[in-house]
Amino acid sequence: MSENKLLSLIVPVYNEESVLSMFMQRVSGVVENIAGIEAEYIFINDGSTDKTLINLIALKETYPQIKIIDFSRNFGKEAALTAGLQYAKGDITIPIDADLQDPPELIVNMIEKWQQGFDVVLAHRSNRDSDSFCKRFSAKCFYQLNNKISSPPIPDNVGDYRLMTRQVVEALNTLPESKRFMKGLFAWVGFKTTQIDYVREERVAGESKFNGWKLWNFALEGMTSFGTVPLRIWTYVGALVAGVSFILTLKILIQVLFMGIDVPGYASLMVVVSFLGGLQLIGIGTLGEYLGRTYMESKNRPVFIVRDIL
Ligand code: UDP
Ligand code: MG
Repeated sequence: MSENKLLSLIVPVYNEESVLSMFMQRVSGVVENIAGIEAEYIFINDGSTDKTLINLIALKETYPQIKIIDFSRNFGKEAALTAGLQYAKGDITIPIDADLQDPPELIVNMIEKWQQGFDVVLAHRSNRDSDSFCKRFSAKCFYQLNNKISSPPIPDNVGDYRLMTRQVVEALNTLPESKRFMKGLFAWVGFKTTQIDYVREERVAGESKFNGWKLWNFALEGMTSFGTVPLRIWTYVGALVAGVSFILTLKILIQVLFMGIDVPGYASLMVVVSFLGGLQLIGIGTLGEYLGRTYMESKNRPVFIVRDIL
């Protein structure tokens, strides 16, 4: 009987035909040399339209530790990670991108930290030069704003690449929501956490699946998933605006009483009306955002549908 610990690597893949064999070569090269560790590779094929599935099946011949969860369509990376966590059997689990932007050599350091008694080991990007300026800037804004309005805070410049013990994975699996912002959920479950630094590498092949619009929606989702500050803020904005208009009313009343009726005022009236109109629309939009989330959750649909397990 072996005393080996099982490591589950969760790899979401969406149209990644060109990186798979490189990924397996590099990752297995690292993992096989870690004493006392046995690995399973859980690939989640997130509705790829290229040869990803065929390539995975072919790779399974060489690497029998591969398990493929084939989705019925593209459900997104968050859903793929959710599935991976449900199917992972490991004593420890690490989600990792297929494009080798998360250097697999780090797994060795993560396992060392785990052996020192940590439940979660985050991989912190000390350098994001491989990402575009736009992506870095928007990421920075997101973390700053999000951590002001949501709790618990999401550690900044930390992706999904992290080690989690069985206990952490089981805690994540008990969370029932169907709109899953994994970075937030990871932070929410807590546990004894540490981090190690790494430099984010360039994608080895293929291209990023996250464009600006997708990232924007992702950020909105994150910020509305873990707090109600955007809702509550309108109470204060309303109170402020009401206070200001009360003072304005007093001023106008006094003017009318003591100086007679003064007709001009079209411009100021328009400014106030359109300003308030805009404010109200933003408020309603925010309400709508939360109402929409409640609506989606109330449907209770599964997060993903599996077409096949290979
Ligand atoms: N991915 C996925 N489903 C999607 C989009 C992406 O499973 O709908 C996977 C993708 O194949 C990759 C990982 O998520 O393994 C990270 O994606 P990507 O490299 O495009 O994101 P970036 O590194 O640019 O943020
Ligand atoms: Mg990538």
